Amino acid sequence: MPQDPSPLGWWPHVGRRQTLHRAPSAASTRIDIRMLELIMTLSDTMTDAARPDADPRGAGLRSALGSLIVLPDDAEWDHARRPWNVAVDQRPVAVARPETAEDVVEIVRAATAAGLRVAPQSTGHAAAALADTGLADTVIISLARLRGVTVDPVARTARVLGGSLWNDVLEATAPHGLTAPHGSAGDVSVAGYSLSGGLSFYARTHGLAVNFVRAVQVVTAEGNLVRASAQENPDLFWAVRGGSGAFGVVVSLEIDLLPYADVFAGMLLWDAARAEDVARAWAAWTTTAPESATTTLRILHLPPLPELPPFLSGRSVVVIDGAVLESDDAAAAVLAPLRHLAPEVDTFARIPAAGLVAVHMDPPQPTPAFTAHAVLDELPDGAVDAFLRAGSDRGLFMTELRHIGGAVARPVASGGGAISALTGQYLIHTVAVVPAPEVAEAAAAAVRAGVALFRPWHIDALALTFIDGGADRALGYGEAAARLSELKRRFDPGAVFSAAQPVH
Ligand SMILES: Cc1cc2nc3c(=O)[nH]c(=O)nc-3n(C[C@H](O)[C@H](O)[C@H](O)COP(=O)(O)OP(=O)(O)OC[C@H]3O[C@@H](n4cnc5c(N)ncnc54)[C@H](O)[C@@H]3O)c2cc1C
Repeated sequence: MPQDPSPLGWWPHVGRRQTLHRAPSAASTRIDIRMLELIMTLSDTMTDAARPDADPRGAGLRSALGSLIVLPDDAEWDHARRPWNVAVDQRPVAVARPETAEDVVEIVRAATAAGLRVAPQSTGHAAAALADTGLADTVIISLARLRGVTVDPVARTARVLGGSLWNDVLEATAPHGLTAPHGSAGDVSVAGYSLSGGLSFYARTHGLAVNFVRAVQVVTAEGNLVRASAQENPDLFWAVRGGSGAFGVVVSLEIDLLPYADVFAGMLLWDAARAEDVARAWAAWTTTAPESATTTLRILHLPPLPELPPFLSGRSVVVIDGAVLESDDAAAAVLAPLRHLAPEVDTFARIPAAGLVAVHMDPPQPTPAFTAHAVLDELPDGAVDAFLRAGSDRGLFMTELRHIGGAVARPVASGGGAISALTGQYLIHTVAVVPAPEVAEAAAAAVRAGVALFRPWHIDALALTFIDGGADRALGYGEAAARLSELKRRFDPGAVFSAAQPVH
């Protein structure tokens, strides 16, 4: 489960890790978004609602599992059940907090003996998608206490315990001059992200993070601890690489690492008044950008707060960020057409690879938000118009286009899992903050409406990691859906496992 909400320090790399080539002097100020602190307080009121009557099945779990579980009558209940996405009011029968793989075995056995389902959860970033599945008969197994990373620098691999975050991996790999295919937020879990695909700023060169998984240790529906790899339990290994928590509780993973000690990465920022020029230029640039460049284009509406540097407070901005896996000179040449648009802030430079996780400026603390997305094959002028229209909606905190394609779209020729690629060239992603329950419906409608503007260019695909509830999951599984269902019936015939991205 996540840390307690606390002041958010966004944009941590600005002025600290990188050079601002054309930045205003206030840029070195660390930005604390107090509005989101207020939001955290409000969202506490969302989760401290009246406690339900104790479920009699909880008493059985308590006698079997003792302090490994938290029940609605326990003082820690509201903290234990609060996911990273604090807009989601999770009300399972119990939350279990294992510290070892053996604890997980005991928990799965006790829960199934009580006729309950089990939902593995590492952070709750995808809590909205899990809530869609219903939690009334479910024990959430929070893997937050099962964290740890061991690096083998010679083999260039890491063994990662089931609840570990990407930040844990980066801390362990950086001293060896290695890094990993993390996404834009360091507090997302390795298991939840990788086993549902995982789109990183390395992706157009190196593909989805799921293809970096070499082996997993899983607690199965029968409560057995098994290893799955290309050699051992290969069908389960295939299924879990895409089917994720629908096939078991992953207590550890072995992943390949990337041989980068540093990367050329950063962001370019303009006032949103420049959104049209920038968006059209980025759209054109992406049609010829090399696979070494993975970038995103976003329109962000920042709150009007005195804590923000004046050049950002209350402003709407357009941002391009990402990484270019080239030498400095070659990367500068790749970025030249974008830099030609004279950004107000330009932080692109060679940075330690571990710094890449800060470039996208995702909130590092629990945040209440709803999101929606779609995958597009192209970005013609009409789609750029749609981006500008969606980006002008101040009900959306963020409208984002991620450039995918390249290695992301190429399935692994042999030995891949259920998901090894994501077809399409762009991903449109909308995010609305949900400061209080009263605005939840409007926020959900806003994110969907933003994505709907792109309907003429939607293709039949979804990125599993971006499905945040209310979407057609089968699109995320694509051609793997039928075999996944078959294997679900074999490995989990009683549908014990409930997952953000379910398999039926
Ligand atoms: C701020 C933010 C930034 C993001 N950036 C990116 C990005 O750049 N690229 C990208 O691809 N995605 C990104 N995501 C999406 C993120 O990768 C998914 O939400 C992912 O599922 C989160 O995994 P988690 O374990 O942290 O979340 P959880 O909600 O804890 O888990 C999600 C699901 O993963 C499975 N799971 C998690 N841990 C285990 C385990 N140990 N064993 C078995 N199953 C498990 C379960 O099925 C669970 O329902 C982002 C999300 C947010 C909120």
